[in-house]
Amino acid sequence: MVSRVIPVEPFDLVVFGGTGDLAQRKIIPGLYRRFWAGQIPADSVIIGAARSGMDDDGYRALARAAIDEFVTADKRDVAVIDAFLATLGYVAIDAKGTGGWDALKGRVRKNVVQAFYFSVAPSLFGDIAERLHAHDIAGPNSRIVVEKPFGRDLASAQALNGVLAKHFNEAQIYRIDHYLGKETVQNLMAVRFANMLFEPLWKAEYIDHVQITVAETVSVDGRGAYYDKSGAMRDMVQNHMMQLLCLIAMEPPYHFDPDAVRDEKLKVIRALDPVKPEDIVRGQYLAGDGQGGYLAHAENKDSKTESYIALKVNISNWRWKGTPFYLRTGKHLRARTSEIAITFRAPPHSIFDDADGWRENVLVIRLQPNEGMNLMVMIKEPGPGGMRLTQVPLDMSFAEALGEEGADIPDAYERLIMDVIRGNQTLFMRGDEVEAAWRWTDPIIQGWEARGDKPKGYDAGSSGPEDALMLMHRDGRRWREIRE
Ligand code: NAP
Repeated sequence: MVSRVIPVEPFDLVVFGGTGDLAQRKIIPGLYRRFWAGQIPADSVIIGAARSGMDDDGYRALARAAIDEFVTADKRDVAVIDAFLATLGYVAIDAKGTGGWDALKGRVRKNVVQAFYFSVAPSLFGDIAERLHAHDIAGPNSRIVVEKPFGRDLASAQALNGVLAKHFNEAQIYRIDHYLGKETVQNLMAVRFANMLFEPLWKAEYIDHVQITVAETVSVDGRGAYYDKSGAMRDMVQNHMMQLLCLIAMEPPYHFDPDAVRDEKLKVIRALDPVKPEDIVRGQYLAGDGQGGYLAHAENKDSKTESYIALKVNISNWRWKGTPFYLRTGKHLRARTSEIAITFRAPPHSIFDDADGWRENVLVIRLQPNEGMNLMVMIKEPGPGGMRLTQVPLDMSFAEALGEEGADIPDAYERLIMDVIRGNQTLFMRGDEVEAAWRWTDPIIQGWEARGDKPKGYDAGSSGPEDALMLMHRDGRRWREIRE
């Protein structure tokens, strides 16, 4: 299959925080890879902006080092790197100061697509938004890209939305959740709405339950003080996992149009039931293997912040009443894996005697590693041993199925930045969606804070706290194994 790369229009992109970790690990390498693929025209302009004193050549050297480190060798071509670096420039700017803004104005054009990436702490969003207008840099067609965390509760999210809304309208604001840029996540929509096979079964009548797992092997060592203010619920569930849940649970939008898709996601969030305390398990990893535990990494020996959470949530609408969604995510677990598993109900009547061999159909959508899908189906066990049943996976790895193109699936950031330039907001969160997610999350967090709940310890490298197993067992279900 030949990859189709459709070039975007020439654009100007200013990356505030252009010297930061995100810019070096994701944004610059992502832009380079799109340039290498022929999607970014050479007359585009990419400007890094941060406080550090540096000239254009200094920034190009920083970008070259980032490309060397974060782009695989097969895509590093000296001539292409040089051509890409020629599109780069740098302006020293303090988001809270006055210097540098007029210089920035002189570097960006009014007659091309103009985007401003706020790759800085959210506390600077307001300062930057205000100055972009005060210095007549941004116009009614400019776009801004903002990073997570988008608030830490409903009030702070509303405040951030308010700050941005003073200077930009909703159609100009691109709130990034990089999970939405993953190939498989978009494939969720393609699988559901471009096939007749699944959608008729996609309801409580046929689906027993849904499991969403985002497991990480990394601990919070090195960024514990930062993480401790957040925890798994705020860091993963309110945003990434909520988005995955929405894409599984939403009704078909009337069209693959940004607001049509986001309207349907919003309806799902609004239909989420409050979560009962007994349906939540929080954990903190313990010391082991010569490594400190969460409390040592968080530098707060009394911390009650969770590095793991599992919860059960019900959706009160016609489609999903009676089908629980189980969500779990954690740090320092056995394997790094993200998957959605949709477990179907048992057939109404079995004609086979082999009850032991029977297993439920499960559709597993893997986000990482090895993006793809797996449908577990029952077949006859081969051989002359009578009609015995066995379950086999119909396995579709996108990389294998798509051949060369599949091996070259763009990173989520690459795709999302190109969507910003194209002006397509489908894969970005709308302000009301973010607020609705916090409206559901806040009482859950307030509940455990009011009860003074302490997270349960779990062994580093395990599948999480024992109590999380009980969350499923008591419903007669079990978690899928966490493995790569
Ligand atoms: P970082 O490494 O600390 O970088 C922050 C950037 O902001 C630097 O370029 C810094 O450069 C600049 N900056 C700080 N104060 C400034 C000011 N007053 N005026 C202008 N520039 C200023 O942070 P990061 O990890 O790149 O994260 C950036 C944003 O993305 C944060 O909101 C973070 O939560 C979010 N995010 C990051 C990641 C990630 O993987 N890193 C993932 C998801 C979301 P100077 O010091 O030179 O000014």
